Amino acid sequence: RRKWRRVLALLEELEEGCDTPVGRLRQVVDAMAVEMHAGLASEGGSKLKMLLSFVDRLPNGSEKGTYYALDLGGTNFRVLRVQLGGQRSSILEKDVERQPIPQHLMTSTSENLFDFIASDLKEFVERERDSSETSLPRRRELGFTFSFPVKQTSVSSGILIKWTKGFHIEDVVGREVSECLEQAMARKGLNMRVAILVNDTVGTLALGHYLDADTVAAVIIGTGTNACYWERTDAIIKCQGLLTSSGGMVINMEWGNFWSSHLPRTMYDIELDAKSPNPNDQGFEKMIAGMYLGEIVRRVLQRMSQEADIFGTDPSKTPMIAAMHEDDSPELAEVARIFREVLEIPDVPLKVRKLVVKVCDVVTRRAGRLAAAGIVGILKKIGRDGSGGITGGRSRSDARMRRTVVAIEGGLYTSYTMFREYLHEALIEILGEDIAQHVILKVTEDGSGTGAALLAATYSSNS
Ligand code: ADP
Repeated sequence: RRKWRRVLALLEELEEGCDTPVGRLRQVVDAMAVEMHAGLASEGGSKLKMLLSFVDRLPNGSEKGTYYALDLGGTNFRVLRVQLGGQRSSILEKDVERQPIPQHLMTSTSENLFDFIASDLKEFVERERDSSETSLPRRRELGFTFSFPVKQTSVSSGILIKWTKGFHIEDVVGREVSECLEQAMARKGLNMRVAILVNDTVGTLALGHYLDADTVAAVIIGTGTNACYWERTDAIIKCQGLLTSSGGMVINMEWGNFWSSHLPRTMYDIELDAKSPNPNDQGFEKMIAGMYLGEIVRRVLQRMSQEADIFGTDPSKTPMIAAMHEDDSPELAEVARIFREVLEIPDVPLKVRKLVVKVCDVVTRRAGRLAAAGIVGILKKIGRDGSGGITGGRSRSDARMRRTVVAIEGGLYTSYTMFREYLHEALIEILGEDIAQHVILKVTEDGSGTGAALLAATYSSNS
């Protein structure tokens, strides 16, 4: 009895620690906008890197022809071919092939890795020959999505700063990655040019903009989280004299690294950070992304278990917490089943099952609401939050809010209903109904690949 009371006290403490009333969310919004400014003002001016993408034009639907993309950013890589019809925003045809990267290549040499990828790409290209594209002798154009930290030097080139996600190939660090790929393609006798080099969020923005010209930002919330948006060049102060014909450029925020004292932080977050391979980094991501939510829940339940031995081991994976969280049966049968079958802990009492669901709820609610605050932070920075930045002296009542679309992708958002609902709810709370109705979060599919092929078309030397 006394132990259970201790557990409830821990729950209450968690709820308080994770509390995100709208006032606090607004502070996060402001902090995001301020940090964006700081990151654009000077190199290293903020934890937000605000990286220049050099993408100063986005696909608009007029693109025509056949383009390729190579998407490298995790345990798989994908090659794809997109056929564009021009005029109307339609992708005529798309072929995708997905391949795991052999483990040994992830720690091998630059030549081994890129030769492997180039061979696969060549096979993919050759397979299409016997179908539609026999009479195209010209050099093919490729969009390269490379989702690792890169210092971009032009729209089609950049230098690898460091590997992440299990890759360790020393001789690529500090080198120009498009060149590594182009050399490998040349070795394999594949006549192809890297037209653009981007990260996955920029691809998502490109696809979003292709489908809907009001798209101004892209957000990914999956295993990790990041965002990019369209910025006016005169606001990119750290790059004086930057001129683009469009007057703008896509900025890759690397927002997972955002930090503010207004973020509601608990002892579980502090422990998780301390035990992570990158302490003090990716603070925002560690409160939001799928890679961490299950781990936060696990730490809470472990703590509770230490206090009262409510169950022997701990549940941990994010899809698992989603399944338990979404169990709306009165007896919480799904929660019981997961404990029994997945975690091999039989006979968890109903009150403990309720507790587990509550913990999932608290952690996921905070995540969804903070993600919403991040998105509004971007809108604020570009004057699309309805706060009057773009309406000049006019009164708020006739302030005409422009339709604003944010492209969004990632398994946490698309597959975890409660997360998505909390995010939407907070967006409306922060902006108010009137403004929020002009802000549309639009799920795109496979922007990292398709968007890169579209950008290859936009930046094609043939067009
Ligand atoms: P990635 O971000 O790895 O490229 P995804 O965008 O598909 O890939 O996101 C996968 C992540 O989304 C998983 O790591 C997991 O954390 C989360 N996720 C996927 N499905 C669910 C689900 N049903 N409920 C909760 N989280 C999920």
